[in-house]
Amino acid sequence: MKNDTDTEGLRFGTLAIHAGQHPDPTTGAIMTPVYQTSTYVQPEYGRHLGYEYARTHNPTREALEGNVAALEGGKHGIAFASGLAATDTLIKLLSAGDHVVCGEGVYGGTYRLFSQVLARMGIEFTFVDSGDPDQLRGAMRPSTRLVHLETPTNPMMGLSDIAATAQIAHEGGAWLIVDNTFATPYNQRPLALGADVVLHSVTKYLNGHSDMVGGMLVVADDELHERLRFLQNAAGAVPGPWDCWLALRGTKTLHLRMAAHNANGQRIAQWLEARGVGRVYYPGLPSHPQHALAERQMRGFTGMISVDLETAERAATVVNAVRIFALAESLGGVESLIGNPATMTHASVPADRRQAMGLSDGLVRLSCGVEDAEDLIADLEQAFAKL
Ligand code: PLP
Repeated sequence: MKNDTDTEGLRFGTLAIHAGQHPDPTTGAIMTPVYQTSTYVQPEYGRHLGYEYARTHNPTREALEGNVAALEGGKHGIAFASGLAATDTLIKLLSAGDHVVCGEGVYGGTYRLFSQVLARMGIEFTFVDSGDPDQLRGAMRPSTRLVHLETPTNPMMGLSDIAATAQIAHEGGAWLIVDNTFATPYNQRPLALGADVVLHSVTKYLNGHSDMVGGMLVVADDELHERLRFLQNAAGAVPGPWDCWLALRGTKTLHLRMAAHNANGQRIAQWLEARGVGRVYYPGLPSHPQHALAERQMRGFTGMISVDLETAERAATVVNAVRIFALAESLGGVESLIGNPATMTHASVPADRRQAMGLSDGLVRLSCGVEDAEDLIADLEQAFAKL
């Protein structure tokens, strides 16, 4: 697009391809260059071209920030070296003695960062079932500055009502942060439902090709943006320009990929439930306890499915037998992955806490890619036949 700020009224797919980007001013290159530089030459004493040092500013990073901000319906994106770096910097808005209410179903690494690192610095955390507004309300204290939600949760696919939680957080004078990594802005727009900050592990669906690690915060408020931008520069957990470029190439097809992930996820979840190997967790199934909320709050239900095979042995049999699904951590890439959260992504969560979340040793998490659904189902069928 000629002007990267001229996005008013554009739809999701158009924004995915164009927002935050403009032709390179020196050559007209349509693709944003990888500005692989640490510093910028200043034309004369006391005058620079808007860029001084690459921790503070980088044009490739700015393009990605503008792109994701537009997709989330926000005003500002602030990029980080990983999803956890984004979370870590966000919590630096707080001081010792401040309190955070956090959903107990959050990603294991988020739980580890809060409970084992940031709690040591005097920030207080209360973990509750964020699917229950009464528990959220009951956990609020006068010192609560932030409510942190993940919806759907990784890996139990539990939902929280974003609009209801925003009301609870704001009544208590706290910000609502929503980790939108699983849903993506294609399926869910937390800012429009009242959230103050959207958080992403860009590593997952936003990038979509399993070839970089990154994080992002998106806000609509100018003052909050200024504070987070200060922290991004002050703490310095910024992504490199090459990773930003890869993510920017990924977001160009977000709408196409998510439509395919949603379709494969729905079809495979239905097949799994009919196959009857164990309880299936997928918000798009009428059997999901929060299916009505899912339909109200989300436009599609992603490619993420969990199925409880009950024992570690049964889980091991299946993850060892698949041929197209790859046994690996992470999610959201075009290729299908399978994992056992208890021994992989959520091994850092204590066993009693995993049990309280309903995360059994036999839980298997699928990240359905965009391969042909028939092939993925045939792969699962031959693996389940070994049980
Ligand atoms: N949030 C969710 C929901 C995640 O699944 C992850 C990683 O798996 C993170 C945050 C952390 O992101 P990263 O691995 O990019 O640091």
